Amino acid sequence: MPSANPILVVHGGAGTVPDELRSQCQLSIRQAAEVGWKILVSGGSALDAVEASVVAMEDDPIFNAGYGSVLTEIGTLEMDAMIADGCSMGVGGVIGVSRIKNPIRASRVVMEKSPHVLFFGRGAEEYVEKFGMDLTDPQKLITERSIQRLERYKEAKKTYGDYIRPGDDPERREKYGTVGAVALDAHGNLAAATSTGGVLGKLPGRVGDTPVFGAGTYADKEIAFSATGVGEVIIKSVLGLKTKEGIRMGLSLDAASDYALDYLNTEIGGTAGLIAVTNKGEFVAKKTTKDLVFAIRTEKQFTDFCT
Ligand code: ASP
Repeated sequence: MPSANPILVVHGGAGTVPDELRSQCQLSIRQAAEVGWKILVSGGSALDAVEASVVAMEDDPIFNAGYGSVLTEIGTLEMDAMIADGCSMGVGGVIGVSRIKNPIRASRVVMEKSPHVLFFGRGAEEYVEKFGMDLTDPQKLITERSIQRLERYKEAKKTYGDYIRPGDDPERREKYGTVGAVALDAHGNLAAATSTGGVLGKLPGRVGDTPVFGAGTYADKEIAFSATGVGEVIIKSVLGLKTKEGIRMGLSLDAASDYALDYLNTEIGGTAGLIAVTNKGEFVAKKTTKDLVFAIRTEKQFTDFCT
């Protein structure tokens, strides 16, 4: 018997979206939301819904995940992803993979087939290959736009030196694109998924918040959560668990996410975006960055924003 009204919230990253990409972002985020929503309304699980929405965004080069991920300082691809099933407390993630077309699918393989939670690099790729996932040539996941973004980053670095930090794109002010999804299904179960190429121009080997359970991705029986923004500050503020802490203090989800983002800003320093849903049917998409690409789908509401 259904016990909840399904809810799906998806994001396509926080930061700044250039004007010329806004309408494409909006279209893409809407399509990704529809993919997961169809699963939820036909009685499917939150886990299947968040995975499917994230796969749709990994396949869409407008976002910074899977095909079209940003590149490291030396032009390589190092993608991170994590999926979490609140119902079973299952968690799986991959770190620094470059030969997997859909890192979120690989994360689910890790969660369901392995005795572990996280795999990195070649070990992750070889492990999921055993379960039928095809490995691909990393070059096939690198787009012309990713190459141009790295070129611009390097040019800016030459001019401005250390004022330019990984993730910055000063000339076009373009910084967004990590993808995530959270859902509550008709059976009352929660799930979360996040996938990213990380930050543009990162040092090889750098890992962000996305595959850090409790920071960039989190789900249990009470809340499902996915963050976006500069991973270093999201990790230091343990943003997912901070939001849960707010709920435990008796705050609404809306107030709890303000509490978590305020903590990040005042105690750690910085901005971020987040999406979350609770078992009580509360949902939120919040940011302290200029933009957050997101869509919310419930039986009564369809909202999508690129701001
Ligand atoms: N949080 C991601 C990371 O730091 C990047 C982003 O969300 O834009 O890897």
